[in-house]
Amino acid sequence: MTPANRPPVFDRPPPRSHPHPPIRPLWLCRTCAAPWPCPAARLHLRHTFGLAAADLSILMVAVLHEAMTDLHALNPSVDPDLPGMFARFVGWTGRGPLSPAR
Ligand SMILES: [Zn+2]
Repeated sequence: MTPANRPPVFDRPPPRSHPHPPIRPLWLCRTCAAPWPCPAARLHLRHTFGLAAADLSILMVAVLHEAMTDLHALNPSVDPDLPGMFARFVGWTGRGPLSPAR
């Protein structure tokens, strides 16, 4: 996907303005060192997006893409755990209770 035809959400930076921001390119929480988004970051994002769960899911798919790119660049010899990464970044964004961090 080229920059010209990317959806605008891809140009939005990952959330950084909350108390549990990611450390890039490691994608660990700067505050609690858990894999990002940590439980506190998930709660903050859910609170921020409120009933716009679809918007949060779309944002987190874009963030997942960025995280996969960063983590692959750091360690290209390791195959990514795609189901695990999807669950970590996107799987919790739907309605229902928050699941524990992976
Ligand atoms: Zn945290």
